[in-house]
Amino acid sequence: MTPAGTPCRPFHALRPLFTADEIRARVHAMADTLAAGLPDDELRCVALLNGSFIFAADLARALADRDVHLVIDFMTPASYGGETTSSGSVTLKHDLSLPVDGRDVLLVDDILDTGRTLQTVCRLLQERGAASVRTCVLLDKPSRRRVPVTADLAGFVIDDVFVVGYGLDCGGRYRHLPYLAALPPDLAPDAPAAAGESRPDPACQPR
Ligand code: 5GP
Ligand code: MG
Repeated sequence: MTPAGTPCRPFHALRPLFTADEIRARVHAMADTLAAGLPDDELRCVALLNGSFIFAADLARALADRDVHLVIDFMTPASYGGETTSSGSVTLKHDLSLPVDGRDVLLVDDILDTGRTLQTVCRLLQERGAASVRTCVLLDKPSRRRVPVTADLAGFVIDDVFVVGYGLDCGGRYRHLPYLAALPPDLAPDAPAAAGESRPDPACQPR
């Protein structure tokens, strides 16, 4: 029970998708791929909060193991409403602390869903004069796409399930799990309401 007395979803009710070992192996394989194709210069890593915080941390350290020099910065995309909201309405709760003009950027996000977040942030970085933008996501749900976006590199391609763990949340919960799991279908939200945050199911709202 939470301090407020509301029940937490027991971890055994979650359907495991990828174990911590599987994620670790995939993140290192992604770092191999990225390191092979990167410019020699310092790379600007832009991680989208909150969901990518664990993935970005592990990927950054895997890149360090491969002698890739990073400058890491963060951005927090803001809610844009539901499916009825027109695309391109992703705004920022928190912006970068460093300029990106002339920089080669590695944009890191947790999951590519409708594609609106990645599309909007990519365009923004290009408008700000980034020399190049590579996109890297841990998870890709192509069946949910609403705008034509593909990631340059995706860790795992998955079906339309609502995923938690390894940084991904449901109402702030589950981010700390070392593995990735799907919420049971009866609890899984079915419409996105937030860019950069989880979708609006009552079970997912902070209590
Ligand atoms: P998009 O703009 O591509 O629709 O949404 C991307 C954001 O929605 C992701 O960065 C993530 O924060 C959130 N999101 C999309 N699908 C899921 C999911 O299955 N689980 C969680 N926890 N968040 C998701
Ligand atoms: Mg996100």
